[in-house]
Amino acid sequence: MQNLLMDIIFPQQACCICREPGIYRTRKPWCEKCEESLAIMQKSLPICDKCGKYLEDAEEICAECRKNPPLFDIARAVGPYDEPYRIAIKVLKFMGRRHLAVRMGRMMAQVVNEEPRFWPIDFIIPVPASPGHLKQRGFNQTEELGRQISRDIRVKMDASTLKRVKETPSQRELSREEREKNLLCAFRVQENSNIYRKNLLLVDDVYTTGSTSKECTRTLLDAGAARVCVITWATGIGF
Ligand SMILES: [Zn+2]
Ligand SMILES: [Zn+2]
Repeated sequence: MQNLLMDIIFPQQACCICREPGIYRTRKPWCEKCEESLAIMQKSLPICDKCGKYLEDAEEICAECRKNPPLFDIARAVGPYDEPYRIAIKVLKFMGRRHLAVRMGRMMAQVVNEEPRFWPIDFIIPVPASPGHLKQRGFNQTEELGRQISRDIRVKMDASTLKRVKETPSQRELSREEREKNLLCAFRVQENSNIYRKNLLLVDDVYTTGSTSKECTRTLLDAGAARVCVITWATGIGF
């Protein structure tokens, strides 16, 4: 409702990805050209059957998943973490364009609906933001994405079960090992949660080294969840 009203009063004057002038709204926040390149990139390279990362060569499972098999069932993303996917997440996250999560969440829901291995799903769990980020941005982008996915796939979102208990510094500059150490025990499941023996869909914005998704999965399984699948907006290009 709020988005609808904003669209009428203040439609956006430029494509949120390439800044092409025009009239853009919540349901169509980017231009035709960007829409097309998002679609082309989605199927541009083969993906790892387990973690969903894009691979240079067609192999079924990437080297990282072979070495350290992830605890989640599968992880999938809408597209590779490269322009324009990268710009969309930046605009949502750092420029506070919360309404972008509607269109992005819709595309994530489509991926979930089209992959039978995601199902059944009992609850959607967004990766919790750190209190610092929440204060800075005023919203948690994974919860915004999760809300739209929840509407589209008709599964409830539970945003209070998984908590972040450790304030973690930005992960961007860290190596894989440092990220994993940084995140160890960063999450906890709220007492009396009802995830016991449940099938969960974890929602995150980007999968790069996968350390956040993996740590959240471990925490949820330790608390008794039956299985965890992961959906993100973008994922790394594997090597
Ligand atoms: Zn554009
Ligand atoms: Zn993999």
